[in-house]
Amino acid sequence: MAEGADSGPVLVIDIGGTKMAAGVAEPGGRLITWTQVPTAHDVDGERLWRNLEDLLVQVLDAVKIADPAELSGIGCGCGGPMEWPAGIVSPLNIPAWREFPLAGRLAARFGGGVPVRVHNDAICVAAGEHWRGAGRGKRNVMGMVVSTGVGGGLILNNRLIDGASGNAGHIGHVVVYPDGPACVCGGRGCLEAIARGPALAAWAQQQGWRPDQPGMTAKDLAADAAMGHKVAAGALRRAGHALGIAIASATSLCDLDVVAIGGGLSQAGALLFEPLQEALDRHARLDFTRKVRVVPVALGQQAGLVGAAALISAGDRYWTAGESGVPSSPRASTVSPA
Ligand SMILES: [Zn+2]
Repeated sequence: MAEGADSGPVLVIDIGGTKMAAGVAEPGGRLITWTQVPTAHDVDGERLWRNLEDLLVQVLDAVKIADPAELSGIGCGCGGPMEWPAGIVSPLNIPAWREFPLAGRLAARFGGGVPVRVHNDAICVAAGEHWRGAGRGKRNVMGMVVSTGVGGGLILNNRLIDGASGNAGHIGHVVVYPDGPACVCGGRGCLEAIARGPALAAWAQQQGWRPDQPGMTAKDLAADAAMGHKVAAGALRRAGHALGIAIASATSLCDLDVVAIGGGLSQAGALLFEPLQEALDRHARLDFTRKVRVVPVALGQQAGLVGAAALISAGDRYWTAGESGVPSSPRASTVSPA
């Protein structure tokens, strides 16, 4: 690790199927600057990398960091699956990247010898919310993202749990209805198959919500539900129930204090959280499971970026992998970058 690594700013990145966000964080996690762009589809992997590169140059310029060695590291959340800790990513919702060596590219282009740490985007949300958000001061926290996909990450006893391959906490593929709809993972009845935004919109359209309008999204659905559209509200209720069932199982397994839910759909508010709580109350019957608190993320859209900062600035709690397996560019100790 470069000298003074714990005290410098962190370049932070959050990559999902809908948007790519980047910023620079103080060592304490506060974002000095951040910005986001839609994730381009119908482009190849190299073009998408150049988009990210442009975004990173933009945020570094904004805080006048010209030499990557001024950074204490680069933290990045990305949609899974990925080879972890190597940071070779194949995000389900970004088909242009298959076995894309994201950590290696970041290290070669922006690393300057500082640590580069890539983790699952939902795990970064969990880390961010535990470190600086709704789970602050709690020992056992699950962070979730409900968006194009459904993901999650686990903090138990104040430490991020990675699991054998870095995927622990991936609640999206916990089965809630064994006879339910097919899931993109190849299984059936997973939480994600029901509660992911596109699945919700498709279900609602089958039930008569804006049936002839292509390109309708969960955002449109939530807006209509808020206006009192019955089928749209029913779709959110269906998602809320599935989430409640999955969370009841998760807290029974992990004895959680707080579940913090982020991602676009979490902005639907009571229309999602009320049916969620109903299902949770119905299925979590033991005393220790009844105390779990389910809340929207406190950090909003910044949760993933703050969590990416935690991978570097609070690596003792949120990064267990050491530097092994992470490709790193040679240290720039003898050569000044041009
Ligand atoms: Zn699945």
